[in-house]
Amino acid sequence: MKTIDKIYINGEFTTPQGKQYFDLISPTTNEKLGQVLLGNEQDTKNAIAAAKEAFKSFSKTTITERIQYLKNIQASIEKRREDFIDVMVEEYGGTLQFSTTSFDYMLKSFDSAINLLNFYSFTKTMGESEVQMTPIGVVGIIIPWNSSNGFIASKLSTAIAAGCTAVIKPSEMSAQQTQLITECLHEAGLPKGVFNIVNGLGEIVGAEISRNPDIAKISFTGSTNVGKIIAKEAVETMKRVTLELGGKSPNIILDDADFSKAIPLAIIAAYMNNGQACIAGTRLLVPENRLEEVKKLITEIIPNTIVGNPKNKTTAVGPLVSVKQYERVQNYIQIGIDEGAEILTGGLGKPEGLEKGNFAKPTVFINVNNQMRIAREEIFGPVLSVITYKTEEEAIEIANDTTYGLQAYISSSNEKRAHKVASQINAGRVQINGIGHDPMAPFGGFKQSGIGREFGTIGLEAYLEPKALIR
Ligand code: NAD
Repeated sequence: MKTIDKIYINGEFTTPQGKQYFDLISPTTNEKLGQVLLGNEQDTKNAIAAAKEAFKSFSKTTITERIQYLKNIQASIEKRREDFIDVMVEEYGGTLQFSTTSFDYMLKSFDSAINLLNFYSFTKTMGESEVQMTPIGVVGIIIPWNSSNGFIASKLSTAIAAGCTAVIKPSEMSAQQTQLITECLHEAGLPKGVFNIVNGLGEIVGAEISRNPDIAKISFTGSTNVGKIIAKEAVETMKRVTLELGGKSPNIILDDADFSKAIPLAIIAAYMNNGQACIAGTRLLVPENRLEEVKKLITEIIPNTIVGNPKNKTTAVGPLVSVKQYERVQNYIQIGIDEGAEILTGGLGKPEGLEKGNFAKPTVFINVNNQMRIAREEIFGPVLSVITYKTEEEAIEIANDTTYGLQAYISSSNEKRAHKVASQINAGRVQINGIGHDPMAPFGGFKQSGIGREFGTIGLEAYLEPKALIR
């Protein structure tokens, strides 16, 4: 059993003043893996004070220095590749496949930040004036459990590229993953106070970050509900906020698509990260007159979508992160049944032989209409709703009839047509005939999927304040 009883403030592993322990439970077996000692309000204040002090000099570092720091971090993370993958599988229940991909993306965050620094101009001419893009200050980074170290890497690398310092609050459920990345960051030898990491609860550590006047900006990834709480608190001190929130992404299969490719891809888009992905394609929009074909393909694919121990190479869907998350997903499956949707595969309960962990059955609902709760609310588990449409216009209308707008997917054999449809979808990213990630393109949501963007130039500028020198 592991006990994590240190947080990281001002370049040192330090014992928090908080006295509360939180149990770390395996999602695969529900056995206790360890415990973490949580930081409190005072710990958070200390971390913010360290970041504030460090900002004075870090904001003046050169591009060359920042590139070197980013390279150092990347090198120390790369050395512990296996540890990163193992701990994500053990603590979070990410499948081996997903955790490996996630690690590769994490490493690439540093390449992207370095790439940005190689071409971004921090001084511009606009009108007759010089415009300086200046680091915004101390950044509060608040993140969820579903790709914890990936979020730390992408947000912190951007903060460092911008010349900002940071206080990071990961989910208390990710303490072992946090411990590992903290060791790597420590080894990278950044100046004291540039990054500080406080394990703790949202309503204590997260709340202090949201209200503390010395935090200039918050970069938050998490649920829409918590995003709203943070934004309300942040406005009191006019903090800038980047909010990456929930989604209910539509996946439109146009009638000219190759269904034998599009449907398997739709299953991957829905169940990636055990269904715990903000970008999951959870509403599958198919032509009404092709429903039987879609049903046949889905029932053929699902038995090959292996649910099980995330350590196994062939596992496609692992456990949900916690008992609470499992119960939430079960509750939504029941809601779907009560609303009159029909279960094509999956359903309530655990798959046979997987009773110990938080395993849900990969579930596909048919006879869903877009007004049902299972089509409108984020479930965050392996539950897919199939919705039929009659015309392309109707498909676009259904796709956009949501309070969210993070991502969308379109399959078509005609690229021009797919492009035309994509242009009419209200979402921050639209994936055409695939699932990809472009780290130089903006990522973020329309509507209640968030505020602002991450990645690329737009993501970097969210950590900078423009200052015009009028002469
Ligand atoms: P959550 O919103 O409950 O928690 C996220 C973080 O906020 C955690 O660190 C939590 O401790 C903290 N928090 C909770 N209450 C707080 C408060 N009052 N003040 C400040 N901080 C507080 O989310 P979760 O359950 O950990 O993660 C799942 C959610 O994250 C889903 O809704 C999912 O869509 C979203 N998500 C979004 C993206 C994206 O990029 N858009 C990516 C991944 C996950």
